[in-house]
Amino acid sequence: MRETEKIWMNGDLVDWGDARVHVAAHGLHYGSGVFEGIRCYETDNGPAVFRLTDHLVRLHNSARLLHMELPYSVEELRLASHELVGANGLAECYLRPLAFYGYGELGVHPGTNPVDVCIISWPWGTYLGEDALESGVRAKVSSWKRVGPNTIPHVAKATGIYLNSMLAVVEATRAGYEEAILLTDEGTIADGSGENIFVITDEILATPDLSASILPGITRHTVIEIAQTLGYAVQEREIIRSELYLADEVFMCGTAAEVTPVRSVDDHEIGAPGPITKAIQAAYFDAVRGRDERWTRWVEYAEKTPAAPGS
Ligand code: PMP
Repeated sequence: MRETEKIWMNGDLVDWGDARVHVAAHGLHYGSGVFEGIRCYETDNGPAVFRLTDHLVRLHNSARLLHMELPYSVEELRLASHELVGANGLAECYLRPLAFYGYGELGVHPGTNPVDVCIISWPWGTYLGEDALESGVRAKVSSWKRVGPNTIPHVAKATGIYLNSMLAVVEATRAGYEEAILLTDEGTIADGSGENIFVITDEILATPDLSASILPGITRHTVIEIAQTLGYAVQEREIIRSELYLADEVFMCGTAAEVTPVRSVDDHEIGAPGPITKAIQAAYFDAVRGRDERWTRWVEYAEKTPAAPGS
């Protein structure tokens, strides 16, 4: 990763090299943390963080699901995020807020351990490889199932859950693929190791509904609204594995992966990125860079959102 100058840590901006934790921190031993992945994009009005508030609300919800009390409000973390973007002076970056049980006791019960909160920002290009956005990725259905709703609350973006994703993506890449697709315990499609998934057949988009074991992705929500605005029908429903193999188009979406076409699943060729995927990808990039008035409410500047032209 490319280091930047500052990290926001427990209320202060500290030098990158000084953002340290103790090896006895609870979160390091038990994965007792929650985090977010957010992107800041360059726009005509300066850097803007896409759906920052929605991400920070999800961070708070993730913490609630772990009975973890965050010492900073959504508003405080929103201001801290903008402060960090300003301090590091990057036009585009990825933001990683993280809250975890820190140093205190080392029993599994976190007791009265402090909750440490930090925000890291650094430049992060395409997530799934250089030409993934244009040519698409080869995906493999994983032998690892997504954690079930009564195993860990999968709705929480919690650090410990990501062992599940890590095993899946390591398995897929070791087998020569670029990304994993995880099934639910019942065997229907859940999501990628770090993305939600959409299947397109006969110009209808389908994505697993929120009752499946998926992370309620903010990009998923964005894509649904974009697709509907472009006139496509979107179904949120159970999807079976065969649908991926027979689909006209498949794509994955997430803050890091943005809108990435899927070229094949388990060696079933889907082919070059299709027209609907391309249209949604183009609209997504217009949205995040503040180039489309229909979605400027999601484009969050350090100062308040500039007035729409003519208003
Ligand atoms: N599913 C999983 C398992 C993820 O890790 C992510 C990335 N946060 C997503 C879906 C997509 O979520 P979002 O669009 O909010 O980044």
